[in-house]
Amino acid sequence: MIHNFNAGPSILPKQVFEQASRAILNFNDTGLSILEIGHRTTTLFQPVLDEAIALTKELMQLDNDHEVLFLHGGATTQFFQVPMNLLNENETAAYLDCGTWGSKPIKEAKLFGNVNVVASSKDKNYTYIPRDFVIPPDSKYFHYTTNNTIEGTQMHFVPDTKVPLVADMSSDILSRVMNFNRFSLIYAGAQKNIGAAGVNLVVVNKNILGTVSRALPSMMDYRKHIENGSMLNTPPVFAIYVCMLTLRWLKEQGGVAAVEKINDQKAALLYDTLDSIPVFKPTVAKADRSKMNAVFVMENPELEKEFLDLCKKEGMVGVKGHRSVGGFRISLYNALPLSSVEVLAALMKHFALKHA
Ligand SMILES: *Cc1c(COP(=O)(O)O)cnc(C)c1O
Repeated sequence: MIHNFNAGPSILPKQVFEQASRAILNFNDTGLSILEIGHRTTTLFQPVLDEAIALTKELMQLDNDHEVLFLHGGATTQFFQVPMNLLNENETAAYLDCGTWGSKPIKEAKLFGNVNVVASSKDKNYTYIPRDFVIPPDSKYFHYTTNNTIEGTQMHFVPDTKVPLVADMSSDILSRVMNFNRFSLIYAGAQKNIGAAGVNLVVVNKNILGTVSRALPSMMDYRKHIENGSMLNTPPVFAIYVCMLTLRWLKEQGGVAAVEKINDQKAALLYDTLDSIPVFKPTVAKADRSKMNAVFVMENPELEKEFLDLCKKEGMVGVKGHRSVGGFRISLYNALPLSSVEVLAALMKHFALKHA
């Protein structure tokens, strides 16, 4: 039995793996593999894309102003595609810097316009979320990362501002109920909570587009992608198929509210265990702990290797922390069953008894 705590690409539902592997051999009883169908054949791939878009709209409860796109290039492409489409050279966008993934889009946005970093938690190694920042009302947009995958912090509030909100939700999208219509633009690499690597979900309010004066290459222009229904060129067919299957699974579970309940249970069990055992030391401010990625170190770093080896022996993968933080990181994405956290919690208690 493998317990997969990988941070990304990460665990997906078993039924998705089964269905996706069947489609590689024989897609919808066509005798063709999903890997060899033409993406413009209206009866084959188009229904997959249509269903993926419809499920996204339904699960996120999006209004008609919000368009759903499946694009290439990962979240990292959005770091520059966002300012390229939204920010003129003489305008200023506000950014919040709460970690590795918060600072990279700042660097990219500076290529296109002015950037105002309204707050940063770098002073304490990104272990908390700043609260008392001010977003100037004339900012073109405000960009933040809802969940900091590497450092293990999560924004448990939506900033109160009239400035259009832009969010990188790569590692917590569809894990909790939110008013997604509140955002002008949302992007997320698929490989954490939505599907396979190679595709990027972009949800954009079409009313914020068309205000930049620069010429945009077609592949960078959100409006061109909207006009062409995410098929400006060959889309990542298989990656989108895996997203569609995962979204179907999510709907079968009862949707976002239902998985949020289980996600809350998983996070509560893990953090309660960590808090009750002095051997382990969570690194993040309590109020800002991520329910998707729990980060902790050991009171005595010399014990880290022993615990890591023990996890390995018990079939646990992906528990080692990011190289920039060290220690441990346990990712608790939608598809991770509560039982995996129960096994881990039991192992932690056992380990603590041994070293008490
Ligand atoms: C993983 C991750 C990224 C990077 O995604 P790519 O698809 O590799 O470009 C960006 N932001 C966050 C919050 C992430 O977790």
